[in-house]
Amino acid sequence: MSVQAQILNLLEDMKARYGLTLVFIAHDLAVVKNVSDRVAVMYLGKICEVGPPDTIYKSPAHPYTAALLAAIPVPDPAVKAAERPHLGGEIPSPIAPPSGCRFRTRCPRAQELCASQEPEVVPSGEGHFVACHFPLGPGETLSLNGSLAAAEAEPA
Ligand code: SF4
Repeated sequence: MSVQAQILNLLEDMKARYGLTLVFIAHDLAVVKNVSDRVAVMYLGKICEVGPPDTIYKSPAHPYTAALLAAIPVPDPAVKAAERPHLGGEIPSPIAPPSGCRFRTRCPRAQELCASQEPEVVPSGEGHFVACHFPLGPGETLSLNGSLAAAEAEPA
């Protein structure tokens, strides 16, 4: 952790000293939030959502972003990992992605339109963009457990 902190500090220094723009690719969502001016979430090679970190983390509009945030470990031994909301299913092959929205085979909000039409990236707020036919509204939470069984039963 201390090496990680040193490297992140070094990157921040370089950014300020040389006026650089850095593209930081990571799966550690806490680190991403701390180092980013703008966050882009990708699934199977496509951008799902782009926006300021505070907006993305407080009010995600794309179901995949919401599922990622729900999967952040909780530092509480009383909370069992298996009981926490999680995204089921396997990531489809990038060689033969699903038709329409690439996330639809794992998305609890998927509907027929999602299979026939790929969602475009459209504005969702100040500096916030999302590619989803049925995005979450402000403050809306994604229901993961329960609805996933139906999503997983859908053919790819
Ligand atoms: S377009 Fe449909 S399948 Fe894709 S993320 Fe939105 S609701 Fe889910």
